[in-house]
Amino acid sequence: MNTDKNYAIRLDQNDNLASFRKEFYISNETIYLDGNSLGLMSKRAETAVTTLMNSWKTYAIDGWTEGKHPWFYLSEKLGGMSAQLVGAKPEEVIITGSTTTNLHQLVATFFHPTNEKNKILADELNFPSDIYALKSQLQLKGLDPADHLLQIKSKNGYTLDTQSIIDRMQEDVALIVLPGVLYRSGQILDMERLTKEAHQRNILIGFDLCHSIGSIPHQLSEWDVDFAFWCTYKHLNGGPGSVGGLYVNEKHFGKEPGLAGWFSSAKEKQFDMEHTLTAAEDAGAFQIGTPHVLSVAPLLGSLEMFEEAGIEEIRKKSLRLTNYLMQLIDSELADYHFKIANPRDDKTRGGHVFLEHPEAARICKALKAEGIVPDFRNPNGIRLAPVALYNTFEDVWQTVQMLKTIMREERYKKYENKRGVIA
Ligand SMILES: *Cc1c(COP(=O)(O)O)cnc(C)c1O
Repeated sequence: MNTDKNYAIRLDQNDNLASFRKEFYISNETIYLDGNSLGLMSKRAETAVTTLMNSWKTYAIDGWTEGKHPWFYLSEKLGGMSAQLVGAKPEEVIITGSTTTNLHQLVATFFHPTNEKNKILADELNFPSDIYALKSQLQLKGLDPADHLLQIKSKNGYTLDTQSIIDRMQEDVALIVLPGVLYRSGQILDMERLTKEAHQRNILIGFDLCHSIGSIPHQLSEWDVDFAFWCTYKHLNGGPGSVGGLYVNEKHFGKEPGLAGWFSSAKEKQFDMEHTLTAAEDAGAFQIGTPHVLSVAPLLGSLEMFEEAGIEEIRKKSLRLTNYLMQLIDSELADYHFKIANPRDDKTRGGHVFLEHPEAARICKALKAEGIVPDFRNPNGIRLAPVALYNTFEDVWQTVQMLKTIMREERYKKYENKRGVIA
């Protein structure tokens, strides 16, 4: 292992995505490794917001159909721009809602319990919001979540075993909802195999792509996944509260949206103002109300960068960054009791490294005081996400050196080992 700084600099010199870094607002004093919680702002995203603000200023109500990006078609246009990231046809993707509201919409649409099949299969490691949504959807159908929500257990507290999930795909399961990449350990689930096994048992399956979109490639159409949903403020750099996205396999087009609204309408019918919905014949049917135009705006700029860089190239660099980070941790921090708790191999490792340490909360505070932004996860986890579009190999090298200094000099002891409100 070459732990020399010059080696990091050489890696940066040979990085074919290096030019994207200057398109982001990054302070010279900061190393930002939290792009999997909130991606950084780019100049293109900023410009796109200004453009849409100007279309409001200039066109007022006519902005729905006039200007460079008519608002009425924006969700569909951005859906099309996101399609390559999930491996889908443009009409199978729509930018709308949030992760959690899209999950509500999709469960309301796809979960139709019968006497025999009335359970939802999920896992015990998923993000809480998904579990809350699944429980409330069951309750709305008069089903007790204690009996009807099955959560696959993890054997080690970090990862899920594909075979354990498959073993529980039994007769009583109607629907499966799992993450594409686990938010703590960064494990990538085998979406292709899980989908195949679910379908063999006549079970519908969907994935939460919050931590995988913009970080790893997907082939949702090829894998025949039924539906998926995600946020756009993590790896996609859409900004705080930017509008989420969903995918519905074209074989389900025409299915009645579980939560309907006038934006579920076929575009040409919407303004007929009839009380009988004529739903769109594509993923657009799963929109509900008026799009949050100013909160989708940044995506016009940021998704363009993904189109230019290509998700395959992004993934290649991301793997090299996380691999370099893990190797440096192994060789430089061996004395300090860190545990790398993400899967190490390229096939199942997502876009971040998950470190565990008993003093994690205050190590994060010490890092932040030095201008390095990690992500603390209760009770003892540190997520480090070197993002392909704006982080460098030198960032990774600096971070590990700083961790070494913090541990050697016990700088973390200046801080309380307790999390902040947002962590
Ligand atoms: C970030 C994240 C969410 C957040 O949901 P919002 O509705 O966007 O607030 C939900 N689920 C997972 C798995 C996430 O990573």
